[in-house]
Amino acid sequence: MTPVLALVGRPNVGKSTLFNRLTRTRDALVADFPGLTRDRKYGQASYREMEYLVIDTGGIHGGEEGIDAEMAGQSLQAIEEADAVLFLVDARAGVTSADEAIAGHLRRLEKPVFLVANKIDGVDADVVTADFYSLALGDVHGIAAAHGRGVNQLLETSMAPFLAELIEEEEPEEEPWPDEDDEAEEEPDADRQPFEDMPIKLAIIGRPNVGKSTLTNRILGEERVVVYDMPGTTRDSIYIPMQREEQDYVLIDTAGVRRRGKVSETVEKFSVIKTLQAIEDANVVLLVLDARSGISDQDLSLLGFALNAGRSLVIAVNKWDGLDQVVKDDLKRELDRRLGFIDFARLHFISALHGTGVGHLFESVEEAYSSATKRINTSMLTRILKGAVEDHNPPMIQGRRIKLRYAHAGGYNPPIIVIHGNQLSGLPESYRRYLMNYYRRSLKIMGTPIRIEYREGD
Ligand code: GDP
Ligand code: GDP
Repeated sequence: MTPVLALVGRPNVGKSTLFNRLTRTRDALVADFPGLTRDRKYGQASYREMEYLVIDTGGIHGGEEGIDAEMAGQSLQAIEEADAVLFLVDARAGVTSADEAIAGHLRRLEKPVFLVANKIDGVDADVVTADFYSLALGDVHGIAAAHGRGVNQLLETSMAPFLAELIEEEEPEEEPWPDEDDEAEEEPDADRQPFEDMPIKLAIIGRPNVGKSTLTNRILGEERVVVYDMPGTTRDSIYIPMQREEQDYVLIDTAGVRRRGKVSETVEKFSVIKTLQAIEDANVVLLVLDARSGISDQDLSLLGFALNAGRSLVIAVNKWDGLDQVVKDDLKRELDRRLGFIDFARLHFISALHGTGVGHLFESVEEAYSSATKRINTSMLTRILKGAVEDHNPPMIQGRRIKLRYAHAGGYNPPIIVIHGNQLSGLPESYRRYLMNYYRRSLKIMGTPIRIEYREGD
């Protein structure tokens, strides 16, 4: 499971500054779910190819009094969902009573806490950090989040070993193919399909009440589905192995269907962290939207997370039953307008309640998965590149034409196409999009993003 770090501390100590520095996702992915979050921010981050999630708990207000009450609220929940806590203090302000109260709470947690003193720029770091040893949380890491100073060292010395350990606890995922090498010129064995024998991990995600549980129940209730029993834990999604028309799946159930009846329904069913971890862990994401409420910023946030993680995507517009034609037409126009940027994802109009359209979802899920894992060899990628350049030359940069030489696959899930050439950094973004669309059409890749990377020289 993707590790989760919570940023905790008084307001103004620099949590959002550090958050922005750590995450590859910025303001666009502030997931503000009504009733669940009070200025909480979630972001995806990675260090040395280790992926993790960061929650900015939004600051614990109030110092001395009521701190416990505050802690018991939203921030506490964020801390509970996290694997480790980065506790930020202001190196310039010295230890405050609010810091002490927070530290007292964190010391009682059975979780690793990294104490980080921010804003060491322009002061004597050793002197100011010394003060914070009194919080009895171990080492004090001095950083200046605004300038990046000390952040890499913090990541390298403290976070990296910790992340590696958490990630290693998981079974290492086997690569069904080694990444294709430059010299692999021979045609692939036509019978062999990559990832053929592996189950498709399908995460069903969406805002609260869009119909995820209803849909999951509907899928599991279908006679053709064989469900295997799996125990679930509280924080995590439930992983449900199943088989449908010869294809193995693992449904990642973020709605907690199978817990129903066992744990009281008032237990929070929706958790952003759970959803984000499900996205990270899935091969294909099935995003459920609610036709009755239209598309919201939260939907777009979730979409952004899925895209950012490079996941294949299928979109189900649920509750399509009983709507009149005018409403349907309006909604379709709205979807066209707001989802234009993910034109690669198939859109399905379904009713989880009545089962309409549910079976067809799986056609798109399989299409997306096989697109994302398609084995594509160097000669084909290079041939397509030549075609693209012939149809539409790259622009001249300072009187010289940018040269695109050849291409090869750099990875799967999502497909990465590595293009070699000269002066590639001069290529405008519009040309990258052109190449992406050209590859998409030529290779008939649907349902997954494609990544294009440039390599200078041969
Ligand atoms: P948050 O409320 O904990 O999220 O704090 P912010 O990230 O919003 O930062 C609060 C203020 O501290 C802002 O004015 C930042 O520019 C400033 N700040 C953040 N990091 C640093 C730093 O490393 N050095 C200095 N001097 N100021 C910083
Ligand atoms: P979740 O929070 O996303 O798991 O949503 P639920 O599956 O619990 O559904 C929320 C509400 O929407 C429930 O009252 C469902 O009966 C209703 N609902 C779910 N799917 C449909 C549908 O296809 N059509 C209609 N009309 N209602 C639905």
